[in-house]
Amino acid sequence: MQTPSIANQDVTFHRYHTVIVGAGAAGMNCAVHLCEFMRAKGIENAGDRIAVVTGGLPLGTSRMSGSDKQTYYKLGTSPDVPDSAEAFARTLTAGGCCHGDLALAEGISSLREFYHLVQAGVPFPTDALGTFIGYKTDHDPAERATSAGPKTSKFMSECLQRQVEAYGVTIFDRQDVAHLLTTGSGPDRRIAGMVTLDKAKITESNYGINVFLAANVVLAAGGPGALYETSVYPKGQIGIHGLAFKAGLVAENLTESQFGLASTKFRWNVSGTYMQAVPRLFSTDADGGDEREFLTDFFDSMGKMATDIFLKGYQWPFDPQRIENHQSSLIDVLVFNETRQGRRVFMDFRKNPVGNATMKPFDPDDLEPEAHDYLQAAGAFQATPIERLAHMNPPAIEIYCEHGIDLYAEPLEIAVCAQHNNGGFAVNSWWESNIRRTFVIGEMAGTHGVKRPGGSALNAGQAGGLRAAEYIANVYLDELTETAGTQDEIEAQLRQLIAKFERWKTAAGAGPHEAIEQIQRRMTASAGHLRERHDAHRALQEALALCENIERNGLELKKPASIVCAVQAEHLALAGVAYLKAIVELIEHGGGSRGSHLILAPDGNEIHPDVVNAATGKPLTFKAENVTLRTSILRIQYDDAAPDRFQASTVEPRPAPKARKAFEPAWRDYREGKIYRQ
Ligand SMILES: Cc1cc2nc3c(=O)[nH]c(=O)nc-3n(C[C@H](O)[C@H](O)[C@H](O)COP(=O)(O)OP(=O)(O)OC[C@H]3O[C@@H](n4cnc5c(N)ncnc54)[C@H](O)[C@@H]3O)c2cc1C
Repeated sequence: MQTPSIANQDVTFHRYHTVIVGAGAAGMNCAVHLCEFMRAKGIENAGDRIAVVTGGLPLGTSRMSGSDKQTYYKLGTSPDVPDSAEAFARTLTAGGCCHGDLALAEGISSLREFYHLVQAGVPFPTDALGTFIGYKTDHDPAERATSAGPKTSKFMSECLQRQVEAYGVTIFDRQDVAHLLTTGSGPDRRIAGMVTLDKAKITESNYGINVFLAANVVLAAGGPGALYETSVYPKGQIGIHGLAFKAGLVAENLTESQFGLASTKFRWNVSGTYMQAVPRLFSTDADGGDEREFLTDFFDSMGKMATDIFLKGYQWPFDPQRIENHQSSLIDVLVFNETRQGRRVFMDFRKNPVGNATMKPFDPDDLEPEAHDYLQAAGAFQATPIERLAHMNPPAIEIYCEHGIDLYAEPLEIAVCAQHNNGGFAVNSWWESNIRRTFVIGEMAGTHGVKRPGGSALNAGQAGGLRAAEYIANVYLDELTETAGTQDEIEAQLRQLIAKFERWKTAAGAGPHEAIEQIQRRMTASAGHLRERHDAHRALQEALALCENIERNGLELKKPASIVCAVQAEHLALAGVAYLKAIVELIEHGGGSRGSHLILAPDGNEIHPDVVNAATGKPLTFKAENVTLRTSILRIQYDDAAPDRFQASTVEPRPAPKARKAFEPAWRDYREGKIYRQ
């Protein structure tokens, strides 16, 4: 560790073989595997050669998010239902725009990683003979899902962290990434490390600058949760998408964010048993008065309305293909319809759904067979939703209690929230990005297609960490030596960064909080689950204007610690442009409603005759999916010279390899390391 002074700043330099950014389930898993692979290669003290850098150890989606029983989707473990990696991959690719090799690798690695988590201590439930019990989630034809309860991903991160610590890996906490250091160009371009701001060390005169240099970089900083105002991502989950774009990484499928119903006071998904308990949904005015059973205007019978509420449990993400003819995603549209008129929507577990004058009172016998049979099998015909929920899943009630919300005593405010991005940065089948020696794993990697089964994000994060670690330990084990040239490049970038911070000290531009709020409002309004062509174009131009404004006028720093927020605002603004550019491009390519978003368009399909466009008074209509685009993955790459700052292109999904070798030749390929060159 060295601490030279650069541009009047004390800069602490660290050097590691591999630096992993992010301490969520994906990053922690990669660190564990990397130690294990390095040790298998005879490297002593492998832990000393690896560092994990995070903006906050207790932060991030894995540690802070969940649902009624947060799902881990893996290859089937049923003793009597066969499953295969190919069948698993077929499910992952079914919605289109998903690379077959990645899906197959996720299937092949699935059980290895699942058992790795079991060994690490994650309490996935078994029966008396040791079977890991499965259940069905959204987009899941088999019972591949399992859960360790509402906090599965938290348990994963914590159990893996214990292993990381046991291996002696240093975790650098409270380090917000401010810049990715790049060297070289063309095929020699590398991300040589990163600049962080140590939040504990920022003073009036010092930005707490740390530099982590590494031969290999693994980016596991999660999704850009802070992009959206109405969001169930945990607060403070910023990500580093803008920085990664500037460094030259290419992204895919950015249009495929997922949205769904979640509570807002305490950010948590209300999927699964929260909905299967069939609570009453009602809305109020902004002050909590004028209660209305807002769903009743759109349904003909209590049985249908209550069944749709139930189905939202495992048809959780908003899905434009489940709207027409009173399907379950109509509920999301109606909730959004209320909130957009300034009303608030609540789930009330104390009461059954309430109908209107023409509806019968709630009776479980009037539920459609799918809902009725499920509740019957679960023995959940108790008189009230809270009793049904307590019977099916008591931890789902406790988690709200832990956060000061008593579902026995009060209703729960909900909204249609941004929850996940299926897209992210492009990777090959070893999770290496378009820049050599830079790997992207977890939610930051864009390995999912248009649709994914609930729970497959966690599986993908584990598979990616395993694959990246294996490749690094077998192909990139050497240390890179820095030449004088690369040192000059790094120092020049540091000087530029510090000069920018100095300018911001006297800047009269927008405050960083205001800038972030502006980004969030725009993304929720124009890049959420309802999108419209002209609006998307306008939003993109506004997002570009914000970026240019920040570049020209800086961001006003009211106090020294604001530097972190200012850095975040700057790269989040660029990430916002990237997402909007992708949305505009997809619409211009003829993209219709798919995944978890709906494209509003005149002359399209009616959502419901009574869901009207406030401007025209006519029913809102949307464009159906353009299925030809399922074989066209939209890519986005930063280009300073491009009018919209980003270039868009398309690639076809890579197929899943079909060739299978006999044991002996495959063994030779393995011994000779050919598997890393195919
Ligand atoms: C409410 C909710 C419920 C979900 N339920 C499920 C589910 O049931 N099944 C499923 O498979 N998936 C689910 N997901 C998605 C899944 O939880 C995430 O995709 C996954 O946990 C992401 O893990 P990760 O390790 O990639 O990133 P994260 O866990 O988000 O970790 C990111 C890490 O990077 C750090 N970081 C972020 N920004 C910066 C920065 N600027 N500088 C430095 N460090 C930074 C963070 O502090 C953190 O350490 C859910 C998501 C939400 C929001």
